[in-house]
Amino acid sequence: MFLESFAGILLGFTMAFQSWGYMMPHQNPMDTLLLVNKQNKAPVLPVMLMKPSVDPVEEKVSGNIYMRPDAAAALERMFNAAGQEGIKLYALSGFRSYATQKAIYNRKDRSESRISSVAKPGYSEHQTGLAMDFEGESTLGKGLTEAIAASPEGIWVDQHCWEYGFILRYPKGKEHITGYIYEPWHIRFVGTEAAMEIRNLDVTFEEYIRMIRRERIKNLEQEEIVVEQENTGIDLSIHADPDGNGKHGGTSGSGDYGKRGGSTDTGRENVELSDSI
Ligand SMILES: [Zn+2]
Repeated sequence: MFLESFAGILLGFTMAFQSWGYMMPHQNPMDTLLLVNKQNKAPVLPVMLMKPSVDPVEEKVSGNIYMRPDAAAALERMFNAAGQEGIKLYALSGFRSYATQKAIYNRKDRSESRISSVAKPGYSEHQTGLAMDFEGESTLGKGLTEAIAASPEGIWVDQHCWEYGFILRYPKGKEHITGYIYEPWHIRFVGTEAAMEIRNLDVTFEEYIRMIRRERIKNLEQEEIVVEQENTGIDLSIHADPDGNGKHGGTSGSGDYGKRGGSTDTGRENVELSDSI
């Protein structure tokens, strides 16, 4: 019995690490692309917080809607744009401290499946100051439920939030990747470029970050090869072909590669990242 459950736990761990449960290396709290989820803790405190000038759901929550300045400015732009189209949005919950999250977590009924609806203290995206839970006029006061997705405000946010640098962080059908239930009310600021790419690729934030890191490591590996090539004068590019499709061979020794070989410092520093993918 003991052995069975032990094996189960072990299998669970292995599966988690094989799929999306990888740990990020040290993350800069200033980064717009901070990954905070069940495996990755939020920085203790965002560097700076400000209160966006948008309407809170009710006055008593107005102290709960602080965000990082870049996210707050984007939220104001988005709420204003929505307002101009007759869509009234309200802010419910932005930055949450570790202590607040702890209180929320402890309040939850233990019999509920709280693992996927509430984050453990220290692991909430709200602690980054980049997330916001919103409500719309038509569902105001009815709680955070999936009904928001079908409301005019939920539909508007889904269609337009990327224009302002936000994504719906916990999409439907991706619970196994994000680790959380579908939350059509939880938006996350990632910047306009990333938001557009995430939308176009139709991926979760977890998948997007993994793609970026893979790309970065591939580039760094190529840079290292070029440096070696410059030092030895031998074309080593064929060994750098990670997919085995020989594509890299064709461009070896081109001007571009030579130019990029210059910045070796960053390459050396970051190439260790490949260990944790
Ligand atoms: Zn939320």
